[in-house]
Amino acid sequence: MTLHAKPDLGALELRGVKRFFGNHAALAGIDLTVAAGEFVALLGPSGCGKSTALNCIAGLLPLSAGSIHLGGHRIDGLEPEERGFGMVFQSYALFPHLNVRRNVAFGLAMRRLGRREIDARVDEALGLVRLRDHAEKLPGQLSGGQQQRVAIARAVVIEPAVVLMDEPLSNLDAALRLEMRAEIRRIHEAIGCTTVYVTHDQDEALSMADRVVVMRDGLIRQVGTPEELYERPAHLDVADFMGFRNRLRGRVVRVFDGRAEVEVAGARLSGALRQDVSPGGAAFVAIRPEDLQIDIRGAALAARVKATEYRGRAFFGSAVAADGTELFFRSDRPLPSGEEIQLAAEPSRTLIFGGTAP
Ligand code: ATP
Repeated sequence: MTLHAKPDLGALELRGVKRFFGNHAALAGIDLTVAAGEFVALLGPSGCGKSTALNCIAGLLPLSAGSIHLGGHRIDGLEPEERGFGMVFQSYALFPHLNVRRNVAFGLAMRRLGRREIDARVDEALGLVRLRDHAEKLPGQLSGGQQQRVAIARAVVIEPAVVLMDEPLSNLDAALRLEMRAEIRRIHEAIGCTTVYVTHDQDEALSMADRVVVMRDGLIRQVGTPEELYERPAHLDVADFMGFRNRLRGRVVRVFDGRAEVEVAGARLSGALRQDVSPGGAAFVAIRPEDLQIDIRGAALAARVKATEYRGRAFFGSAVAADGTELFFRSDRPLPSGEEIQLAAEPSRTLIFGGTAP
């Protein structure tokens, strides 16, 4: 027997999904299609509605408006058990008094499967998460990472069409988080389940997901492959999430060939247009710290160093321009606090957005 999720049930679709808490729209109208077998991450700052979206898909929260479909069939009227989706939470949510085997078997026992089938499936799920040797232990005898593996085994043992994960790695230390990212991706590929994964960690979303959905204020801001989002964020707040720590407001000097020149803190910076701007109007210039340096040629921003720190291979620092704008840059050497420097940006890696902040 091989554990086999049921992505053949088809795509998961959210159509115009809204969810209010009182007057507050936690979800203000979400449209999203997750292809069968796809791994999609919902990424966004705290309070943007990620968990609400996941709980609506799971059936733990009713919708205020809109509908959810699986393979074209409407499912938002179904109870969570009837949807049969696997769920993994940040808190593991294991039964402390049941051993690993019985925790994993729980959902199967509820489905009244025969003893032999339950044993075979549990063995397989424990093999998949590499915990066969720990089957008789209680959750309290396992490390955090091992407990999260039990939770994953329990989610996939029911052969769900969809697995939903809400910040599953948040309680683990940094090294274990890295290991578990690869582990979850491997399990996803082994059983081929459609996966929706909630995280506020950009690295996690980019490294694990086929596509990333960036949310803010109950709305989807952008959906794309990790590479698309990283290279071509469509909004300033998506750029913020993708590491463009410098977001400098300035005035557009000229617009040409999909590019614009913007005057910021006395310097003219050029970059690729990501939104419409017009000459004379306001714009934001977005630059990653690694693309703002003292040693590259180009329009220079005069600034005074606040501090630099060593981060393996290079130094990263902060500085203040004459008009008070804070800048984050990269340097090959440490710079003393108070030193006057000239920072230039790599134009091919500089992006220009409209002048109204989101
Ligand atoms: P976090 O990562 O902090 O959990 P999130 O992006 O998952 O954030 P949600 O938990 O979905 O965000 O919350 C979205 C918004 O809805 C927030 O403003 C939150 O305060 C509100 N909210 C969520 N659940 C409830 C509830 N049960 N009652 C009232 N307001 C709620």
